[in-house]
Amino acid sequence: METVYLSLGSNTGNREALLLRALDRVSAYPGTDVVRVSSIYETAPVDMVKGTRDFLNLCCAVRTDLTPFQLLGSTQGTERELGRDTKRLPPDPPLYGSRTIDIDIIIYGRRIIYTRELIVPHPRFHRRLFVLGPLSEIAPDLVHPLFRLTMDELKYMLKDRHSVGCRKKTDYPRAGKRTI
Ligand code: ADP
Ligand code: MG
Repeated sequence: METVYLSLGSNTGNREALLLRALDRVSAYPGTDVVRVSSIYETAPVDMVKGTRDFLNLCCAVRTDLTPFQLLGSTQGTERELGRDTKRLPPDPPLYGSRTIDIDIIIYGRRIIYTRELIVPHPRFHRRLFVLGPLSEIAPDLVHPLFRLTMDELKYMLKDRHSVGCRKKTDYPRAGKRTI
């Protein structure tokens, strides 16, 4: 069993309902428990095509028996089931289109993985306040396996340089019930 941190985001449809449905799906993966969930944060889109709606984001901690690639397969299945339309992605990154639900594997224990399909720790999360905001709420002392900095430290470094808003919107109703 490993402790894994996931980031969930949505900026189309009923964003809050989609986040909660995605969380329900994650908790139904075999050998997987959602053990901690952050509040929901509202964040301005970053690296997105113009005119996209603000995101709702949260992070959760899960304990799982799934391997990193099994977990990625499951999260991508959930993205498809909840209607993420990958075809709507513009052809050239780094600009992204709207998404009903995006699930990223941020940290998987202390594993370091670098493949075409999966990079862990997630290669961009330390630059994204919409991940570090919710993540530092549930795991402030978690250490980045490569940078050796805590989530709190990474967040404060980012806050100094970035003005992109990341505002706590709602307390997740089930947050705080179970802790790692
Ligand atoms: P982003 O989440 O960075 O905005 P996308 O969700 O559109 O971008 O990227 C999806 C692709 O990222 C997938 O093809 C997946 O294989 C790859 N990927 C690499 N590392 C990860 C990770 N840690 N978590 C989720 N997807 C990842
Ligand atoms: Mg993603």
